[in-house]
Amino acid sequence: MILPGATLGLLGGGQLGRMFTVAARTMGYEVIVLDPDTDSPAGAFATKHLCAAYDDKAALLHLATECDAVTTEFENVPATSLEFIAQHIPVRPSASAIHIARDRILEKQAIRDFGLDTVDYYVIENDTDLENALEAISLPALLKTATMGYDGKGQKVVSNASELAPAFHQLGSISCILEKFIELSCEVSVVLARSICGHIETFAIAENKHADGILDVSIAPARVNQEITARAEKMARILAEKLDYCGVLAVEFFVDVNDRLMINEMAPRPHNTGHYTLDACLTDQFQQQVRTLCGFKPGKSDLTTPAVMVNILGDLWSEGTPAWDTLFKYPGAFLHLYGKKEPRPGRKMGHFTLVGDDLKKLVETAAMLKKALIQINNG
Ligand code: ADP
Ligand code: MG
Repeated sequence: MILPGATLGLLGGGQLGRMFTVAARTMGYEVIVLDPDTDSPAGAFATKHLCAAYDDKAALLHLATECDAVTTEFENVPATSLEFIAQHIPVRPSASAIHIARDRILEKQAIRDFGLDTVDYYVIENDTDLENALEAISLPALLKTATMGYDGKGQKVVSNASELAPAFHQLGSISCILEKFIELSCEVSVVLARSICGHIETFAIAENKHADGILDVSIAPARVNQEITARAEKMARILAEKLDYCGVLAVEFFVDVNDRLMINEMAPRPHNTGHYTLDACLTDQFQQQVRTLCGFKPGKSDLTTPAVMVNILGDLWSEGTPAWDTLFKYPGAFLHLYGKKEPRPGRKMGHFTLVGDDLKKLVETAAMLKKALIQINNG
């Protein structure tokens, strides 16, 4: 058990790291963040910010000697860095779980090995695989790089056979998967926390809407039937157990028009679709990350109110600073900004959560508020 007063290390200092850091410091822990960005959103709240690369030997040694345990806010940390730290102190989730989650090929194979369903896919390592892929997967399909993809990046739509080879080359001829394009009924996700002793708490299943490959809105609880909810929760639990996972795990699902439930991908950390837990659950996903990292059971994860979370992207600055006062007029609206200076299009700058009893009304109000945030300069 790692008690308050101890020091926790964090690899990556973006918004997920920032919310972890706030949770940890609130509970009395010190936090050392490793992130090469001088303007790291998490660094601003950390006890110390090591501004260095993720494979910087001196920085890793500093973490290994000064911290009592280390976690990560993203999966693209070099495996060797995690393994190095793990020789000295606990790394949770484990380097091996992160290794699987960061690679679509390993991830999908593991999911299938555990008896769980995924989208139909075919692995493409080089040009000779292209033809076989077209035989295996009917078009339209999506070509995705095995690693480093996020927010829809590293993906190309393949509508006819002649597009596959150019798409593969455009993605750099690196390991990819060709994935059948699913006619989606909806997308849902389950975020859970699992302790080192195997205690699991799952958060209410979220229904997720994406725009241009980036999460736009999460609705909790998801408006799907009880049977799908139960099945998704069970699949997420099986995944966590089979991986002997410790920490917060997010599992994204596709639901097709025949109610087939497929795991799309997993994230070995708190997740954008779990941000609603900050304002609508007894324990939020970042508190769960602290608790499980420190060897404790996850806290009770009950949903206290229906909630809708809306991402605030840099695009909302198109007409100037968003009209934050609009949001504060709603007592059930909660604003979270990540302290990023440059509002680039597609960049996640913050989110807001709207809570209330009537989910249908929340969804409508959330959409209205998002529009109202864009300031129209009359001058
Ligand atoms: P990322 O790592 O960028 O989140 P995903 O594989 O989750 O990548 O894809 C992002 C979004 O693109 C998904 O949430 C979904 O809306 C859409 N998408 C991805 N793969 C498929 C697919 N096979 N069929 C239909 N939609 C898809
Ligand atoms: Mg995704």
